[in-house]
Amino acid sequence: MEDVVIIGAGPCGLSAAAELQDRGFNPLVIEKENIVHSITCYPTNMQFFSTAELLEIAGIPFVTPNEKPSRLEALHYYRIVSERRQMRIRRYERVTAVEKLEEGGFRVTSTNRAGETLHTLAKAVVVATGYFDHPNRIGIPGEDLPHVSHFFREAHPYAGMRVAIIGGSNSAVDAALELERVGAKVTVVYRGESVSANIKPWVRPVFDSKTAKGKIELLLQSRVVEIGPDWVRIERTQTGEAGGEPKMAETTLPADFVLALTGFRPDRAFLRSMGVEAPDGIIPPTHDPETMETNVPGIYLAGVVSTGRDANEIFIESGRFHGRKIAAHLASKR
Ligand SMILES: Cc1cc2nc3c(=O)[nH]c(=O)nc-3n(C[C@H](O)[C@H](O)[C@H](O)COP(=O)(O)OP(=O)(O)OC[C@H]3O[C@@H](n4cnc5c(N)ncnc54)[C@H](O)[C@@H]3O)c2cc1C
Repeated sequence: MEDVVIIGAGPCGLSAAAELQDRGFNPLVIEKENIVHSITCYPTNMQFFSTAELLEIAGIPFVTPNEKPSRLEALHYYRIVSERRQMRIRRYERVTAVEKLEEGGFRVTSTNRAGETLHTLAKAVVVATGYFDHPNRIGIPGEDLPHVSHFFREAHPYAGMRVAIIGGSNSAVDAALELERVGAKVTVVYRGESVSANIKPWVRPVFDSKTAKGKIELLLQSRVVEIGPDWVRIERTQTGEAGGEPKMAETTLPADFVLALTGFRPDRAFLRSMGVEAPDGIIPPTHDPETMETNVPGIYLAGVVSTGRDANEIFIESGRFHGRKIAAHLASKR
């Protein structure tokens, strides 16, 4: 029987593995793709908003000459950490179930690349499955059309096309700037009164300048309510006369592609299937923030899976410390 199985080899799962090693455990990590798969899927030319040292795990320095590391540097860094620490990682194996055993411990069921079902017994399980597989869906007609995506990788496929971006966060703003540079006609549609206050401070002035000059169209207090084959229908709140009630107006905008960059949320159903209390909504899954243990003794959460609906409460910066709490708790129970 394994002492600890960690599900997910994202930065927080790897950090938990290192912290457990430091306490004398030899955890097994099971990852459905390759390590730090979410970062692999981030926009190709992305730059982190965190400095390298705030992304470090396992006590291994993240060295870069750049003020903020790139996606590629992060891929190199986390791979090197897993190699240096000789972590036991089973890759391309998806965990499908975690069941509590009557005699104590858990049966972790997974499926490998060959389609075989594997069972691994473990005394404790750390769930570090992140959120990136579960974009926040808007729930509007047309959202599943083939030209609509919840992910942005690179600008080139959109060159010369009309693109509607839904969202007002860093992802939306970064994508808008990259798209404008390749000659796409970009409209950012966002429900708020301004884009997020958390836009990277070195990016914000560039975005503001592009919108002020009309190079990127920005529709605030606006919601896309339907997506068609080459258009989006938008509801806009229009401020009335001084003291008057705001009015709703509708407009249709041509759009060859739609990028719905509306954030992500952890898979609550997977947690519930293990017996973890995780209602849909803003409340985080039930866990003790001091130990990260859930209401199911022996099942722990690490990283962004521990958040409520506002997944932006936990980043690598903060989630990388969850493993230390888990390792301390498991060591105290030995
Ligand atoms: C564009 C972008 C930029 C960001 N920039 C920053 C930044 O500058 N600084 C910062 O601190 N944070 C940043 N973040 C947030 C940060 O990337 C996440 O908070 C972080 O990835 C969370 O790490 P994690 O290990 O909890 O989850 P993840 O990195 O999502 O890792 C989860 C892993 O679990 C695997 N997995 C999922 N389900 C299963 C399963 N059933 N079986 C096996 N494996 C499974 C996945 O394949 C994945 O590898 C950014 C996020 C985005 C989207």
